[in-house]
Amino acid sequence: MTLPVAMRLMNERAPADALGRRLSDLRISVIDRCNFRCPYCMPADQYAHDHAFLRARERLSFDEIERLARIFADLGVRKLRLTGGEPLLRRDLSELVARLAAIDGVEDLALTSNGALLPRHAQALRDAGLRRITLSLDSLDPDIYRRMAGGRGEVGQVLDAIEAAERTGFGTLKINCVVLRGVNEDGVPELAGHFRGSGHVLRFIEYMDVGTLNGWRADRVVPGAELRARIHARWPLEPLPRRALSETASRWRYADGKGELGFVDSVSAPFCGNCTRARLSADGKLYTCLFARNGHDLRGPLRAGESDEALRARIAGLWSLRGDRYSERRAELRAAGVVEHVEMFKIGG
Ligand code: SAM
Ligand code: SF4
Ligand code: SF4
Repeated sequence: MTLPVAMRLMNERAPADALGRRLSDLRISVIDRCNFRCPYCMPADQYAHDHAFLRARERLSFDEIERLARIFADLGVRKLRLTGGEPLLRRDLSELVARLAAIDGVEDLALTSNGALLPRHAQALRDAGLRRITLSLDSLDPDIYRRMAGGRGEVGQVLDAIEAAERTGFGTLKINCVVLRGVNEDGVPELAGHFRGSGHVLRFIEYMDVGTLNGWRADRVVPGAELRARIHARWPLEPLPRRALSETASRWRYADGKGELGFVDSVSAPFCGNCTRARLSADGKLYTCLFARNGHDLRGPLRAGESDEALRARIAGLWSLRGDRYSERRAELRAAGVVEHVEMFKIGG
């Protein structure tokens, strides 16, 4: 595995979709459960303790995930991200990390987590070959953070997770912050100030209409440009070139050299044209868009004994039919009543 990710050339062997976008990234959700209930993802009133999450036998096993990941890598996928739900709730995740890190062609293996369980797993993940971690942190204010985690998480847990990752040698972390109008937007400068000079890359993500249950409203979205202007007024920012076309975040640096920031402006400035990401849900469905309504079942054929070759052809065929560009068509599709999407905790970010 070659790390860190440098500028990656488009893999000419990878299948292209109907809009010419070549498959290059796979996000693997290892579990649909979560220890938090962020209102923008998994609102507590919709997901009570007795909610019917997947049972263990319904989830892909590590053998099945590894097999599919090899097939995806064979097709040209170079980047894998483990996500969820909360991926650290999946028992022995480091065993899966070790298997995925050993796959030929995988250049980058990353994890997205809310951090609560990271301190107890950081060393095992690192030893298994994980090199990159993204942590979610929506506010430094304890009350606002708690609200953004649906009352199930404390800001101190994420700060401990950051420390644990630093101690374990993870180096630069990405820190994701979803910004909701009227909830955590005023804490943005404080967050920026906290991570300036830390070596970590804070990324602001626009609130998206993923799933159907988070009560998304356009007026709750804070455009990235507005946040940039606020930060720029205090600490001037300069744009940086994208490292790879498929990168979701635009990159900015502090003019005084105090580090880098990212902005995922998926609502105000969609980037479907360069979207090369496939998503695999914990129960083995392939989603070709974060906003897809349905996934394509891979677990059935896998468990029915389909060969690697047939699975490869199946996945390539599904990808070649892909015409998704929801974010670019959001206004038009929502006006037409297309608002049913898979929940984000089922397929990860
Ligand atoms: N539980 C882990 C976490 O929170 O980092 C991983 C899964 S979570 C679905 C992945 C990312 O999606 C998180 O950074 C989260 O903030 C982001 N996310 C969830 N719902 C979102 C929404 N409605 N709009 C924008 N980002 C969202
Ligand atoms: Fe859980 Fe992550 Fe969704 Fe929050 S964003 S509810 S931590 S899966
Ligand atoms: Fe990719 Fe779908 Fe997001 Fe567009 S809306 S960037 S196609 S996941």
